[in-house]
Amino acid sequence: MGGSIQIGRILGIPVRVHITFLILVAFIGFAGLVAGGPSRALWSMIFIVALFACVVLHELSHSLVARSYGVRVESITLLPIGGVASMEDMPRKPHEEALMAIVGPLTSLAIAGALYVVANVLHYPGPVAYDHRPLFVMLMWTNVMIAGFNLLPAFPMDGGRVLRAILAHYMDHVRATNIAVSLGQGFAVMIALAGIFLLNMNIWLVLIAVFIFLGAGQEGQQVRTQAVLEGISAGQAMIRRFETLDRNSPLSVALAYATQGYQHDFPVVEGDTIVGIVTRQDLLNGLHHLGPQSTVGEVMTTNVCQVPPDANMADVYRRIAQGGCNVILVREGDRISGIVTPESFRDQLIASAGQPPPRPS
Ligand code: ZN
Repeated sequence: MGGSIQIGRILGIPVRVHITFLILVAFIGFAGLVAGGPSRALWSMIFIVALFACVVLHELSHSLVARSYGVRVESITLLPIGGVASMEDMPRKPHEEALMAIVGPLTSLAIAGALYVVANVLHYPGPVAYDHRPLFVMLMWTNVMIAGFNLLPAFPMDGGRVLRAILAHYMDHVRATNIAVSLGQGFAVMIALAGIFLLNMNIWLVLIAVFIFLGAGQEGQQVRTQAVLEGISAGQAMIRRFETLDRNSPLSVALAYATQGYQHDFPVVEGDTIVGIVTRQDLLNGLHHLGPQSTVGEVMTTNVCQVPPDANMADVYRRIAQGGCNVILVREGDRISGIVTPESFRDQLIASAGQPPPRPS
């Protein structure tokens, strides 16, 4: 996510802080200073930092369960409205997703339990605030609230994920997601209305509601896209009639040729073999930096990705999204029967719009 700073790594997972979160800490410190002097400012800032340490533990628990199912966790980022664990994928089996989701609120409850023991059994309530509220007691209740809030059955909150996993036992993944998304968005609207009318324009709640609403919609879209792509093979989606460029052609000639048709990405050949890939943009950049007499071979990428015709398009999409290859060649035995480009996905999704997505097998 743009605008965030890495502050460290826990168990190999980078922990990042978004710049807006730092602004929030500074703002809370400033507000405390104005309202009650340095000690109040210090207490407020300790509280917010300790709270977000609890949020990191919550996200870490999701991440560790996801990782145990083979999902790569890219980072945990702290935002003013909470933490986000970015994962490359989601566990696909419903019980795995349910377990990954439920450990978060359970972790928050466990932290609350530990704080209860420290404050009430060991009688160490932590530094006391300006209004005599002890830090650990405040943190305990906040963790209980975090657990409760996350258990709302509002997708993409943890409770919404558990709900989808339960629904997915009775119907296919896409339908379960659609229901969970609608419920999540319904909850988001209710939370926003409550924030505006019942809680006197609570901007925090409204922000969280917007976040839930957009997050639910986005994830619903991803799941639908994935389902469509899983039902299509590279052999079905590939472009069979494609142009190639010669490695030794000058850029000026290649570009004149490349701008004639609709194709944006070109396999580069030397004799009968494909030796690289070049995009229209590569040609333009090359023309600008190296001049018209340099050749296609000088600006092409030599990283050529290939898949068999029966590879499913969801996997091909993931390979393109991860970067490294913009065009994928579809190889059948020792010949290239077609290419898949980023436009192929858009075409497939347009072609399948209005049709029910294929059932996941
Ligand atoms: Zn969570």
